[in-house]
This record gives sequence, structure tokens and C-alpha cells, in this order.
Amino acid sequence: MSKQKLGLNTICTHVGEIIDEQFKGSVSPIYMSTSYQFDDVDVKRYPRYFNTPNQEYLSKKIAALEHTEAGMIFGSGMAAVSTVFLAFLKTGDHIVVQNTLYGGTSNFIREEFPKYGIEFTFTDGYEVSDFESAIQPNTKLIHIETPSNPLLTITDIKGVADLAKSKGILTTIDNTFASPINQNPIDFGIDIVIHSATKYLGGHSDILAGAVACSNAHMEVIWNVAKNLGGSLSDFTVWMLERSMKTLALRVKAQNRNAKKMAKFLSQHKDVKKVFYPGLKTHPQYELAKSQMKGFGGMLSFELVEGLDAMQFQKELKLIKSSMSLAGVESTVLSPHKTSHSLLTQKERDSIGVTDNLIRFSVGIESKQDLINDIEQAIAKIKEKQLISK
Ligand SMILES: *Cc1c(COP(=O)(O)O)cnc(C)c1O
Repeated sequence: MSKQKLGLNTICTHVGEIIDEQFKGSVSPIYMSTSYQFDDVDVKRYPRYFNTPNQEYLSKKIAALEHTEAGMIFGSGMAAVSTVFLAFLKTGDHIVVQNTLYGGTSNFIREEFPKYGIEFTFTDGYEVSDFESAIQPNTKLIHIETPSNPLLTITDIKGVADLAKSKGILTTIDNTFASPINQNPIDFGIDIVIHSATKYLGGHSDILAGAVACSNAHMEVIWNVAKNLGGSLSDFTVWMLERSMKTLALRVKAQNRNAKKMAKFLSQHKDVKKVFYPGLKTHPQYELAKSQMKGFGGMLSFELVEGLDAMQFQKELKLIKSSMSLAGVESTVLSPHKTSHSLLTQKERDSIGVTDNLIRFSVGIESKQDLINDIEQAIAKIKEKQLISK
């Protein structure tokens, strides 16, 4: 069966399944063994070598979805991020990273790299020229994240990949927000793709996992460090992730459609000041997003008009939950200034556009009208309470 010829939903459903030879069951068996025969076998299997049957087979699904030769499943998104960085960086090397990154990645760089003598520069902006001006003679890696969290800015994937190639620098991308359904960075020249599988790949807010996709040669370098760092995933969770990924394309496409409808609804609402969604024609980088994304994703952000408090709004929502994480089939909201960006100063938050009234909205698969009704009733509730208190 050639992977390239299969359709997206077929890859999600079937690539990487383990055939149950013994009982002919329809789904992959779970192999929980941590101990495997070592003599007279081709592969020495051990969970921390990332090569138990379930680990090995699910990695094929990740690779097929991201158009790479190899894939690897990790115990968390941060295990994937930290392992990849430490695989390609050593004392005296320098990494260029995008200015707004997932908080955990940013903390990892700021808190751990000084201990190893690894230098880093956060770019001033998202333009290719911002990356170019941050490059030094010892730069070994450029890391990007697009769409970004929480303002959904878009980085030119091909632009950055071309720049890096011209200087012999390796590129990595955190593709979590887009998922492989909406964006395949390898097709634009990026070397290594990283996912927090806790988000869209898992999709049901009940799995902590990570994933990496790249060439066999790069994966060999990553594997050699990964087995030492030990960030592998238990086979039961690997199996749960395989089950979740069967519906990945169905879920993400439904979330794309819902998010676009919510973005349109909110941008026409008189109590909403601003909407950030790459699928809106008013988004400053709509054309760029369209050129590199197959769908615009399920994440958006918005600001209520002055006088309507974002925290109060979230408390009044009934169907949409307030939550720290994102990308589940259920819709959730979060205040970045109280959570992901709470460690920044007010001035730092203002400088990157994360205002106190900003709400990040992870759109799920619920019926559109129910989401709209929930938002309308929450806004009406705050207004009513304000009238009473006056
Ligand atoms: C959640 C997240 C991570 C970290 O993943 P964990 O699974 O929580 O370790 C990395 N990058 C992005 C963009 C994320 O949203």
C-alpha cells in the first residue's frame, strides 16, 4: 500500500495500524511489554528506545500525515521540543527563535539554555527580515511557530526555510496550532516538524503526548539523544492516540468551519472590538496564510469592546468552558493575560498586543448556533449586571 496515494481520511484511519494476526480483531492490539527478546531479532525493542510495536507503528501515521520519511512519538510536546533542540545544539551554538512562542518552549530556552552555554535570540517580529537580522555566525537552528499563540500571526514558512537553507542553518517548526491537516511545513522546505499531540492530534483533552516528523537522517540524530533523555510515551497512551487520530481530519475540518463562522459572527458583533483569525480577509496576513495553509484552523482570538470585562464574560458562559489547554472537540476560552502570558509585565504584554481584554477561543465541533447563543447570553448577562450595579 503506497502512502502517497492514500487520501487524508484513509491515512488517519489506517496507516500505522497493527494487524491482529492472532484473533483478527479490527483494531491494533496494545503491546504493553517493556521487555522483549534480545537475541536473534532484527530490532532490539524497549519503550525508551521509542520502538515498541505501538510506538513504531503510530510513528508511521505521523510521518504519512506530515509527508516525511520518519516520525517519533514522545511523552509530551515539551519532551519533543526539548529533545529536538538538544539533539542539534551544543555549547557555543546559537538558535534564532520567533518572538512569541508557546510559553513552555520560551521558558525552556530562557531557563535551561544558559546552563548549557547555548546562545539564543528572540526575533523582533515575524518578518523574514527579522529572522535574517538575528542570525549570527554560530547560528545552528531557526525555530518558528505559525499561526502564533494567541494572536494568530503568520510567519512565512518558505521565506524562513529558504533563508536558513542559503546559510546552511537547520529549521524546526511547532506545527501544533495548524495540525498536519491544515499545514505541511516540509512541503515548504522546513527540516523538522514538532507537535504537542496533547492538542489536535489527541483532540479529546485526555492525552499528554508529543510528536516529531522529519527525514530518516535527522531522526537518527534525534533518536540518539531521545533515548538518553527518556521522554517516551506509555503504550496505552500511544494506543489512545492512535484511536484519536483516526478522526483527526474529520475533527479538524469541522473545527476549521466552525472557527470561520465564529470569526465572522464575532467580527460583525457590535460588542466585539477586534477579531484575530487568519481566515478573515481583514487579517493582515490573509494572503500569506492562504498560500501555506489548507485550512485556517480552529483557533481565534478576540477583544470585547471597552467596558465589557473579559473575565466576567468567561464566567457567564455556560456551554463554552474556560480552560488552560486547547484543541479539544469541546469549545474552550482562556485569558492569555491571566494564564500563558501572566509572567510577562504589563508593558511586555502591551508590546506584543496581548491586552487584558483579549480572549483566546479554541473552537470545538458543537453546533454553530449553540455557540452563538452562549456568547450572546453571556454578553447580555454582563450588561444586565452592569446596569444593576449602576
Ligand atoms: C501545548 C503546546 C506545547 C507543549 O506541549 P505539551 O504536550 O503540553 O508538553 C508546545 N507548543 C504548543 C504550540 C502548544 O500549544
